[in-house]
Amino acid sequence: MSAREEDVLIIGGGVIGVCAAYYLAEAGRSVTLLERGELCSGSSYGNAGLVAVDHAIPTAAPGALSQGLRWMLDPGSPFYIKPRLEPDLVRWLWRFRAACREAPMRRAIPLLLELGRSSLALYQTLHRQHKLDDGFRHEGRLILFRSEQGMAHGREELALLGEYGVQGELLGTEEVKARMPLVQDDIVGGIYFRGYAHLEPAAFVRELGRVLEMKGVGIRRGVEVLDFETAGPRIERVVTTRGVLHPREVVLAAGVWSAPLARRLGLYLPIQAAKGYSITARRPDAMPELPLSLGEAKVAVTPMAGYLRFSSTLELNGFDMSINARRVEATRRALRTYLAGMEGLEELELWRGLRPMTPDSLPIIGRSEMYTNLVVATGHGMLGVTQGPITGKLVADLVSDATPALDPTPFRIERFS
Ligand SMILES: Cc1cc2nc3c(=O)[nH]c(=O)nc-3n(C[C@H](O)[C@H](O)[C@H](O)COP(=O)(O)OP(=O)(O)OC[C@H]3O[C@@H](n4cnc5c(N)ncnc54)[C@H](O)[C@@H]3O)c2cc1C
Repeated sequence: MSAREEDVLIIGGGVIGVCAAYYLAEAGRSVTLLERGELCSGSSYGNAGLVAVDHAIPTAAPGALSQGLRWMLDPGSPFYIKPRLEPDLVRWLWRFRAACREAPMRRAIPLLLELGRSSLALYQTLHRQHKLDDGFRHEGRLILFRSEQGMAHGREELALLGEYGVQGELLGTEEVKARMPLVQDDIVGGIYFRGYAHLEPAAFVRELGRVLEMKGVGIRRGVEVLDFETAGPRIERVVTTRGVLHPREVVLAAGVWSAPLARRLGLYLPIQAAKGYSITARRPDAMPELPLSLGEAKVAVTPMAGYLRFSSTLELNGFDMSINARRVEATRRALRTYLAGMEGLEELELWRGLRPMTPDSLPIIGRSEMYTNLVVATGHGMLGVTQGPITGKLVADLVSDATPALDPTPFRIERFS
């Protein structure tokens, strides 16, 4: 079969793929995006939709591993690792353990803040320029606590973030009630963070897809990448279910599926799939437009146009997409425990998605040292929506050899070598 020539080929139509396509098109490149399903059929679809700028304490932090091991004994807990002797998981956990120390955590915080803040600014520009219809709002987020222990932990995190310039407001019970009248009476307090925005994530990806098509980006849905043909340090051909392509540059942005695709190139990406659930329900009239975190239960509650989404759990269970009913029920129960008026909610959708998690909680954004025409953009874990636009901008800078919007060195692939 003769190969079709392409300038830049992006693999994956989630938030990272469409953002990369946008900034590459802005830089004057001719772009084709391949998506094996519909746009946004992966993790970008049903997530909590938070542009979580202040969420800058990495998952890999001191105490995370021991807390995780304790949670594993509780079937309704928000965290679970399926015990299995897979070399990739063992290697990943080893690196995760190394990242759960004070020094790597403190290195990660300013990086996560910089990614989040740059992205928020880009989101604001995108919404101003293109009038994207995705409910984007910058309202901050309120973390609720039901126990003094939870509140004390929240205070510690706030003090740590404060060292890096993040400001949060400590609130007593009455102040919490003034902002969120639906809280139950036993809430002991909360912390309000201004730095969060929120949107409906699938609407954002589709709206940006609409803009991309107007800009002449070729979005090819239902095209799956199967393999690559290489010649020395270059990817020469990309083999898909709909023919063979001959791109000048390849951007790998296929979320958790980037790791098995990279494997076909002999490239190791330490990414584990971390499953999470969300339930989308009709929004109670009394629910204010303020995203919440149910502190101890680790549940995110996001009001979106006409509905309410609550999401939780992190299960390291490979590519398994089964639904653990106990964990889903624990999420429902948490909602009722923190908020009044949540009984009998009309549920519209139960969803699960696989977050692409790196062991050090930083994304992988970089040009490969093995293939001169490959840029990888994945591993965004819990923060792919948050970091989407800045990742897209960095990808465009890397592909075009432009001065990068921020220093991409900490995100390079080779940090794991
Ligand atoms: C419950 C939950 C809540 C979350 N909440 C938030 C939040 O509030 N804020 C936040 O910032 N992040 C959040 N996240 C994380 C966020 O969803 C992810 O980090 C982000 O969606 C990753 O985007 P992506 O584009 O890399 O991957 P994906 O969205 O998974 O996209 C990858 C795409 O590649 C396609 N693909 C795969 N293989 C191939 C192939 N061979 N050929 C062609 N196409 C292929 C897939 O079909 C898919 O559409 C949450 C995640 C979960 C699960």
